[in-house]
Formats: sequence, C-alpha cells, structure tokens
Amino acid sequence: LGEGITAALSRMCRATVADDAALTTCLNDVSHALLRADVRFEAVRAAIHNVKSTTNPSTLPPGVDRRRAVHKAIFAELCHMLDPGKPPFTPTKGKGNKPNVVVFVGLQGSGKTTTCAKYAAYHRRKGFAPALVCADTFRAGAFDQLKQNASKAKIPFYGSYTESDPVKIAMDGVDTFRKEKCDLIIVDTSGRHRQEDALFEEMRQLSEATKPDLVIFVVDASIGQAAFDQALAFKKSAPVGAVIVTKMDGHAKGGGALSAVAATRSPVIFIGTGEHIPDLEPFDVKPFVSRLMGMGDLRGLVDKFNDVVPDDDDNDELVPDLTGDFTLKTMRQMLKSVQRVGPLGQVLSMIPGLSAQFMEKGKEKEGQAKMKRYMTIMASMTRKELEFTNPSTLMTESRIVRVARGSGRPVRDVAEMLEEHKRIAKALSKLPLKKLANNNNSRET
Ligand code: GDP
Ligand code: MG
Repeated sequence: LGEGITAALSRMCRATVADDAALTTCLNDVSHALLRADVRFEAVRAAIHNVKSTTNPSTLPPGVDRRRAVHKAIFAELCHMLDPGKPPFTPTKGKGNKPNVVVFVGLQGSGKTTTCAKYAAYHRRKGFAPALVCADTFRAGAFDQLKQNASKAKIPFYGSYTESDPVKIAMDGVDTFRKEKCDLIIVDTSGRHRQEDALFEEMRQLSEATKPDLVIFVVDASIGQAAFDQALAFKKSAPVGAVIVTKMDGHAKGGGALSAVAATRSPVIFIGTGEHIPDLEPFDVKPFVSRLMGMGDLRGLVDKFNDVVPDDDDNDELVPDLTGDFTLKTMRQMLKSVQRVGPLGQVLSMIPGLSAQFMEKGKEKEGQAKMKRYMTIMASMTRKELEFTNPSTLMTESRIVRVARGSGRPVRDVAEMLEEHKRIAKALSKLPLKKLANNNNSRET
C-alpha cells in the first residue's frame, strides 16, 4: 500500500501539467494500491470520490501544493475508513455481580491467547480485577499456554484438562470468577487453521451462553487478502464489537485492519507490537495510517519540517533535504527540526531507524539528551566534515580527538555519534527517496 501510494504521488509530481488528467491518473494508481491492500472496491470508490472533490485543481486555492493536498486527503480518507462511527464498548470497574465479560475470537495463530493476557494485564494496570478463562479445547496444550501467560502476568485463570465442551468451560469460568468478584472476565476461545463451520458454530454457542459485553476479533496484521472475509465470517457467528490487530512489530503494515473494520463495523482498539505482556498499545488512528502509508510518511515529515521552519535567516539550515546525501549536516538539521517540532515521539516514529535510536520506549529523556550531545559535538566540526558524504572515511583518529577536545565530550561520544549517523544513513538509503528526487529533477530539466 505504502509504495503504491508513494509511487502514484511521485508520478504525479513528474507530470508537467497541473490538471485534472494528472490528478485522475494519480487517483487511479492510488485506488489500485488500495485494492491491492484488500480494501473493498466500494470503499475505494467512495474514498477516491472524496479525495477527488477535495483536491480538484480547479477548486484548490492558488499556491496550494497539489501533491501535499492529495497526500492529506488520502490520509484523511484512510483515517475515516478506520472510524466505524461508534465508540467501542469499554469495560467499567467494580460492577459487583455483573462483571464485564469479554470474549476473544479469531483464527488459530492470530494471537488470541497472547493478546488475552496482554489485555488482562493492561486493565489490571488500570485498576481492574481481571481473570482469564481458557475455552480452547481444540488445540492441544492450549490451557497450558494460557496458564503460563496468566501466571507470568499474575492473573487468575480457569480451565480444564478433562472437560471437552468449550461452552461449558466458558460458563463455569465466568461463574467462578463472578463469585470471586472479578470485574473483567476474559474468555479465550479456540481457533482453526481455516474458517470452518464447526468453529463458527462453536463461537455462536459460546457467545449465546456467556452473553459477552464485548467480542473482540483478533487478526494478524500480515494476513492481507484474507482479513475481510475472515472478519465477516466471525461477525456472522458472534457479535464482534472491536478489533485487535496483532504482530504490528513485524513487516506487515496492517492494511487488513481497514478491511476488518469495514467488515465488522467495529473499531480497532489495540495493536499488538510484540510477544510479551506489555506489547499492547491502545490504537491511535493517525500514527497507524502514517505507518500504513509508509514512505508517504516521510513526505509528510518533510512537509511538517517545512511547516515549522521560522522565517529567519537560519532558514536554510533548518530544512533537511532527505532526498540528497545524508551527511552529518543533514542529521544536524534533522535533529534541530525535531527539537522544534515535538512532540518527539510522533515525529521520530515516522523515520525508520531514528525512532529506535532516539526514542526507545520509556527513554525519551535519554533520547533528548543524546540529541543535545550530538549537537554540541557537531558544533565543533568543520564544514567539510559536516558536508562529507561518507564522514566515517574522513574522520581519522586525530580528527575525532580534535572534535572531542573542542566540544568537551569524550572521544567515545564522538565515535558513537558517527556510528549513529551511519545507521540512520543506512536506514534512509533503503527508502526510495533518491529515486523520488531524481524523478522530480527530470521533470524540471
Ligand atoms: P492463538 O492461536 O490465536 O491463541 O495465537 P497465540 O496467542 O498462540 O499466538 C501465536 C503466535 O504469535 C505466538 O508465537 C505468539 O507469541 C505470537 N504473537 C502474538 N501476538 C504477537 C505480536 O503482537 N507480535 C509478535 N511478534 N508475535 C505475536
Ligand atoms: Mg490460543
């Protein structure tokens, strides 16, 4: 999806005439990208229609960058698609005899059991008294897996090695924890490798018996094509009210989430970002769409940088050109801008490589300090050093010592900064930024 949209936008940049035809071609490309990302035809058609009306060159005020307008409109549309228009059910604390019952459904391997435990731990941090029920009698070792997850998170759990009726286990589990005054009872169910009638019948019976307040459909971010049908099938057998997309830490961009939302008419509430208990994040539409649009993100980032550039003579200094060579000077401009733009997290998460280096979760303060340190070091570097394409080849030991002395930082700090620069340069070189720039240049010559 990301590359498709980016390619479409860059093609439009290359077009010489700022007219309807170029826009139409661009939107056709975008719609193909969306279709490839498994967004339903109807949704794509509606989205394109909306983007078209908001970015029509004849209605755009003069001086508005068309590429940017299209980018913005697509962003807005994708955000809109992820919003089913009604808020999800959220559990309320301490309901006494009427605890919240939440049932997790999804295919085998989608991440239900893991996510149940994460969800329980998340709510306990919020002051709930959660409990886990294992109603998966299909997979061998399912109860052991849940037990293990639950003990790790210190959440009470219920299950059986002998009972084979998942509906009975679910009801017994809910009863047990109701008596124990738990206020959030989470039921893990079984999946199948494929969508099978037996599975859906089981889900139907289970949800009829437990009368859950919320049924959460869990979907693996990487399943792509299958998300819509899968979500629809589950929605038919159980009253799905929310979606959790797992494995967002992998390569998948999560385009299937759009389909899951469309199929279930339910919002995404969390995303799973790892195998461990804390790796669950409340879903936030905008960063998600940024990620979904991939490279478009960097475009947005460059726009954002431009937005905050103040009108002073420092102007040039503050616009990092990410499409040229990534020199130390570029990195300095980047850090300078990042310091101005804030909130750090939002911006940095857009740049692959940079986020991990400067924004490690829970270490934002250290990230800030690191940036400051690097700025100090770079202030002691010569213009040649700052503008050299591959600074690590230029920076001999004597140069490093000189810079260290000049900036009052230890040698290892200078070395670390050079390493960091190398890493970011490498991350950026993997993106089609140069190609984009070349395309733009060839339009001008
Ligand atoms: P279930 O069959 O639906 O219950 O799925 P499981 O909870 O057993 O998960 C299947 C596999 O996916 C396990 O190896 C999990 O560790 C892994 N997994 C689940 N959620 C995530 C996630 O958000 N990120 C990553 N990397 N792995 C996950
Ligand atoms: Mg499981």
